[in-house]
Amino acid sequence: MSKVRVRFAPSPTGSLHVGGARTALYNYLYAKKNGGEFVLRIEDTDEARSSQESLRGVVDDLVWLNLLWDEGVEPQTLADMGPCAPYRQSERQKIYKEIAEKLLNEGKAYYCFMTEAEIESQREAAKAEGRPPQINSPHQDLSLAKAQEKLSAGEKAVVRFKTKHLKKDYIFTDHIRGQVTFPSDMVGDFVLLRSDGMPVYNFCCVVDDHLMRISHVLRAEEHLPNTLRQLMIYEAMGWTPPEFAHMSLILDEERQKLSKRKGAVATGHFKNEGYLPEAILNFIALLGWSHPDGKEILTLQEMINGFSLDRLHTSGAVFDRVKLKWMNAQHLRARDNAEIWKLLQPFLAREKMELPMDPVWQEKSVAAFKTSMEVLADGIELYRPLNDKSFVVLPEAEETLAWEPTKAVLVAWRDLVAATGKEYLSEEEFLKIQDEVKVKANAKGKNLFMPIRVAVIGKPHGTELKILVPLIKTSSLVDRANKVIAKLR
Ligand code: GLU
Repeated sequence: MSKVRVRFAPSPTGSLHVGGARTALYNYLYAKKNGGEFVLRIEDTDEARSSQESLRGVVDDLVWLNLLWDEGVEPQTLADMGPCAPYRQSERQKIYKEIAEKLLNEGKAYYCFMTEAEIESQREAAKAEGRPPQINSPHQDLSLAKAQEKLSAGEKAVVRFKTKHLKKDYIFTDHIRGQVTFPSDMVGDFVLLRSDGMPVYNFCCVVDDHLMRISHVLRAEEHLPNTLRQLMIYEAMGWTPPEFAHMSLILDEERQKLSKRKGAVATGHFKNEGYLPEAILNFIALLGWSHPDGKEILTLQEMINGFSLDRLHTSGAVFDRVKLKWMNAQHLRARDNAEIWKLLQPFLAREKMELPMDPVWQEKSVAAFKTSMEVLADGIELYRPLNDKSFVVLPEAEETLAWEPTKAVLVAWRDLVAATGKEYLSEEEFLKIQDEVKVKANAKGKNLFMPIRVAVIGKPHGTELKILVPLIKTSSLVDRANKVIAKLR
């Protein structure tokens, strides 16, 4: 068997969708599993819709996901990297032109001078007669010499692929769908090069897959009908087609094709919400594939080891956002505390939080909050009570402040905390002080707990105090209590 070479071929017309990320992942896994190579090819022939900014974004998202490629554009500079350069289709026009000329010379393609109006009226007529809207070009048998004359005279033409003589079924075995049969008359003469010389997707895809020696094409199901046109081009060129696997759709909760109209689907969105790349990979891996042992929480290496095309599913998989969050929480717990602290920084910085610089405190805080976090952004509300600057007595504390025993509780709390002379209290010390306040202020139940809670976080409900108190300096606990006591007068 020849070397496994696969490719991910995004069109840089927007950000990387989770569907695109899944395509990239399956290609990556297949390459790694088989000691093959993973190529990143940029399909940017749609000049109006492609942008450098989108390309930058797609590349950055792939790097963030850790799906690194062997050939393609270099992640930092976006310069070509590898023996089949250039990897951007916009820079390969000379190659497509040469191949198109070969097909023209062999009579397998022709210049078509039909105007938009002529094309439209053929379409209308076909529609009226209930026929597929295929083009029957009056120029299909025009000699190349005649066509050249017209071109020299300034007429505009597209290059069309000739299908008239291809009356047969095109059959191939898809790794996911099994045997697929397409009758040739499913398509009419299709365009290879536009009148401005720009190639269309089906043409450059075949040329590049061949020249880049791609062995397997793993791509989204929506490209299945394109495969017929592509097989016709392979045949006309006398090239062996790669093997194909067309991956099932990703569906939304209503079992419709997942789209950005109903919730975020950009990889970057999940990154900004504080999902971990390994959780995203794990989650999308299972949208259309399953591990041979039925394992759900997987590292990238476990996915590589367990990956095979025969475990790809034919039916669509639902993008379950609740499950994604759960999975993220599992992966978050597997990270060590110092790492999580680092990952939290952009989220805490967004809220301008000022928290201790001491690494011991930092790891202790992560240990306390880790199991309460599903995504990193959850850290914002967990850490907020620890930030002295955001301490305020909230209106919801008013009822508690009006209770008779509140003042005695607050004063006893403040004095007992101050008397410890410690920088931080342990959980046990906190519980002991709470018991002493109970006796000193003669308060119990909510009359005891709620005023203390207001003294610590400015409101009567929130994270458990035995978790929060050991993370706040006693001097700050005293200041906070004084602010609340001042409100009483
Ligand atoms: N540029 C195409 C896309 O983004 C690639 C299709 C293919 O893999 O052949 O959908």
